[in-house]
Amino acid sequence: MPQSVDVVVIGAGFAGLRALYSLREQGFSVAVLERDEEIGGVWNFNRYPGARCDVESFDYSYRFSKELEQEWRWSERYAQQPEILEYIRHVADRFDLRRDVELNTTVTGARYDRDAACWTVQSDDGRSWEAKYLLLAMGQLSTPKNTTYPGQDDFAGQVCYSARWPREGVDFEGKRVAIIGTGSSGVQMTPVVAAKAKQLTVFQRTANYSIPAANAPVSDEEDAQVKAHYAERRDQARNSPSGLGFKPDPRSATEVPEDEREVALEKAWNRLGFGFALAFKDILLNEESNALASDFIRRKIAEQVDDPWTREKLTPKGFPFGTRRPAVDGGYFKTFNRENVRLVDISETPLEGFTPTGLRTSAEEFDFDIVIYATGFDAFTGSLFGPEIMGGDGQTLKEKWADGPITQMGLGTAGFPNMFIIVGPGSPSLLANVLLSSEDQVDWYVDLLVKARDEGIREIEARPEAEKAWNAYVNERAKETLYMQTPSFYNGAEIPGKPRVFMPYSGGVRHYRRLLEKCAADGYTGFDLRKARADAKAD
Ligand code: NAP
Repeated sequence: MPQSVDVVVIGAGFAGLRALYSLREQGFSVAVLERDEEIGGVWNFNRYPGARCDVESFDYSYRFSKELEQEWRWSERYAQQPEILEYIRHVADRFDLRRDVELNTTVTGARYDRDAACWTVQSDDGRSWEAKYLLLAMGQLSTPKNTTYPGQDDFAGQVCYSARWPREGVDFEGKRVAIIGTGSSGVQMTPVVAAKAKQLTVFQRTANYSIPAANAPVSDEEDAQVKAHYAERRDQARNSPSGLGFKPDPRSATEVPEDEREVALEKAWNRLGFGFALAFKDILLNEESNALASDFIRRKIAEQVDDPWTREKLTPKGFPFGTRRPAVDGGYFKTFNRENVRLVDISETPLEGFTPTGLRTSAEEFDFDIVIYATGFDAFTGSLFGPEIMGGDGQTLKEKWADGPITQMGLGTAGFPNMFIIVGPGSPSLLANVLLSSEDQVDWYVDLLVKARDEGIREIEARPEAEKAWNAYVNERAKETLYMQTPSFYNGAEIPGKPRVFMPYSGGVRHYRRLLEKCAADGYTGFDLRKARADAKAD
């Protein structure tokens, strides 16, 4: 017998747990289905050494409870993965969330029945749930690429994936280690692994821009100061474009005198981390401004790396800063000055595969004890296409989105009534503080469900013309930026054959929230709210 609830939420990460809290507060019954043996989503899976958040912890934390805000004590400006996971566990226990979370439950399919206005959700162990609503809170970077190179099965050493890190940890002491990939994950783990391993070789395909994290312990004074003014800080974050809490210099980088620009960029470099992109208002919008910022970073990299060949190879070229997700690091470039660290440029001498004792490029063979893949994810849609989600008209979500995701405001898609997505494609998602954005969306969503319950609404479904218009708008906004110039996971380039469409909404969290508020105030424009079946007259 299926278990019957009001809402099935897939995913017990930050977004899913927040949805559970708020839905329960409003009296809805909820089942959160989580494939792993623990809650936490990406913060549970990405346990690789050096993993930490690159949004400040005071901002990358829930805002829904003032008491929680006051009682939790972050130890560092950018918390490490174990501390973030501990925070998530604390929240789950403090608000008694675990009793509605089904762990070790991989959803294999979900099907909507228009006659019954009901979703049926199945898991791989044969259990099922019936729910009026289905909420997809599966994350945007939760399905790793699972890269393999030929010969991997015959490799005598250990192979690890950054996003499926062994729970028992990995001992690097005295080991020869390879890291493949230099995105945020590779950049974060490089200094930490280098400090322990006998030798570290980093295989780089594309040199990445990276900004220093300027991480530091949080002092008691800073903690007290933030907590005394937390509401203002949250307000500032929600009203900043990226949800990071600071606003760009309102001038163009091009209109500022050179010496003044250098001072501003230096200040941003030393303090803002990821927010360096906001040093001036148009770094991500104007090629000339971007070139000034990109050149500044290249000079900074040059100052840090001693060896001329390595320096040249580590210098990002051919794409504007920020158009691929930059990393935020804890001494990445300086790590290549260590005797035990070497860079291999696999864009020049491609990685061909494994040997029984290591890796082989077109130029050389290397012996390793441990090979780490930090090769990224099937971003945005990978997880949403995991289970077979069948809408009301016999089409799966994967089929419907064969040419790329199409949504009304990133929240719903026509043909899939009563199904909503949190921080998915079409919303600010990975271009912003994802946690802040997910709380905005959950608030909007729960208000809508309360309205539906109060007014006897049976089905909520995105209108086809509205989602077409939203997709066009997302593209228009993307064209105002430099993002489309560079192949990246923002536009589907990380997986061969994936539709090359721009996935997130680039207009910022503040503007997006205003649109959400307007949508609600105008009666949920772009959604049909029906009290009777779809083939009956719509209200
Ligand atoms: P990523 O940014 O997609 O980087 C993947 C890296 O692996 C790139 O250098 C890529 O090279 C390389 N690569 C991919 N396939 C390869 C292959 N077959 N052979 C050799 N190299 C290959 O992935 P990520 O580092 O895991 O980061 C993904 C995102 O997760 C980040 O951008 C961020 O949004 C999030 N993240 C956040 C944090 C944080 O909050 N601190 C930490 C880690 C990750 P190419 O560039 O040439 O494709």
